[in-house]
Amino acid sequence: MYKAPRGAADILPEDQPYWIYTQQCAERVSCLFGYQRLDTPTFEDAGLFIRSVGAGTDIVEKEMYSFEDRGGNTVTLRPEGTAPVCRAYLEHGMHNLPQPVRLYYFAPLFRYERPQAGRYREHHQFGYEALGDADPAVDAEVIEMAWRLYQELGLKDLSLQLNSIGCLACRPAYLSRLKEYYGGHTARLCRDCTARLERNALRLLDCKTEGCLRMGESAPRSVDHLCVECKAHFESLQSYLRLMGLPFTLNHRLVRGLDYYTRTVFEIQPAEEGAQSTVGGGGRYDGLVEELGGRPTPGVGFATGIERIVLNLKRQGVAVPPLPGPQVFIANLGPGARNEAVSLASQLRAAGVGATLGPGSRSLKAQLRQANARGVGQAIIIGDEEVRQGTVVLRDMARGTQQYVPVSDLLDALRAAQRTRKDE
Ligand code: ATP
Ligand code: MG
Repeated sequence: MYKAPRGAADILPEDQPYWIYTQQCAERVSCLFGYQRLDTPTFEDAGLFIRSVGAGTDIVEKEMYSFEDRGGNTVTLRPEGTAPVCRAYLEHGMHNLPQPVRLYYFAPLFRYERPQAGRYREHHQFGYEALGDADPAVDAEVIEMAWRLYQELGLKDLSLQLNSIGCLACRPAYLSRLKEYYGGHTARLCRDCTARLERNALRLLDCKTEGCLRMGESAPRSVDHLCVECKAHFESLQSYLRLMGLPFTLNHRLVRGLDYYTRTVFEIQPAEEGAQSTVGGGGRYDGLVEELGGRPTPGVGFATGIERIVLNLKRQGVAVPPLPGPQVFIANLGPGARNEAVSLASQLRAAGVGATLGPGSRSLKAQLRQANARGVGQAIIIGDEEVRQGTVVLRDMARGTQQYVPVSDLLDALRAAQRTRKDE
């Protein structure tokens, strides 16, 4: 028997209300902030991600699904959403539009990770980017939008963690301080961190291994090494967040797993601790578009994992609206009734009434049990006798009451019953 590949999951009908609710909230919030949807392909040239995410990162080093297609091109299943958006911005000349260009996406992402609860090899993100404006007010907007999204979703007890990791001008000096600091204590570091000390020293700060964690507590802080411009940017962002009444915590060990971030980085975490706890993260990436061959174009964005949102919605017991299903179920007994039921179901659907056909080979009792399980409001019962008389039995499933209705009056009767249900 085949199973879904390790780290990939089916999203079953019973989970769809959570997904659709999340997507609808995200769309509403995007509209509120003036972001427009952009869909990019599921795969891209491998080079796009190697170039942007960075050669020394976990994603590029060990997580990408890359393969050569039949034409000999090396392509990669999208491991993250920002680089494709920047590629599309460039390809379609969006720098000619009023800046910033505000875009959002929903996309499946692929990373060869070690699967655990909340961590998959295929997962889905809602993300958005504001391209072409370096103003810290845009960072604040992007953060506010994330905050608003979680509020609309009804998630509670989230915390906003904020840091600035500087820019290409001031970061090198900070990085050498970091290397100096950690380099003196390599015996206390985990194997991964010893290996990435040279290539990606920032990442040591967010390693969750005991020894590295303790070392991180007194590591040099990026905010103490910002150049004048980065410092002003960070201060201005914080003042905007205060203006908006958004509570945030400065987290000096917050860095992100991708190379392209500059200045602002932020994450939103639920109260529950754990390596899989972050629901969303983002930051500024002022060098990325240029790295991809465009002219210097600042950018800032955010992405949140839908699986982790759903996990938190369930954990916190948030009630999501059920999806509308068919309104009537047509139970039928006997060969004449079968024809009538098939025809009636079709006529009802054509009139905009959702109808499900019962399995005529089962007993009436079994069919009504099924109607109940499907949660329909009304059942129509047709036997050969009703066909002869041109009537049906209309049963209110909740009350268990029944009435005879001529077929010609059925639509009116269904609508009346529905109005009563709505009024109650
Ligand atoms: P993490 O530190 O949890 O690995 P990340 O920094 O790699 O996250 P991003 O690339 O910024 O995450 O992705 C944004 C969001 O997407 C995360 O905050 C998380 O909610 C979700 N996410 C990332 N990787 C996975 C995964 N493998 N499975 C499920 N959700 C994920
Ligand atoms: Mg990760």
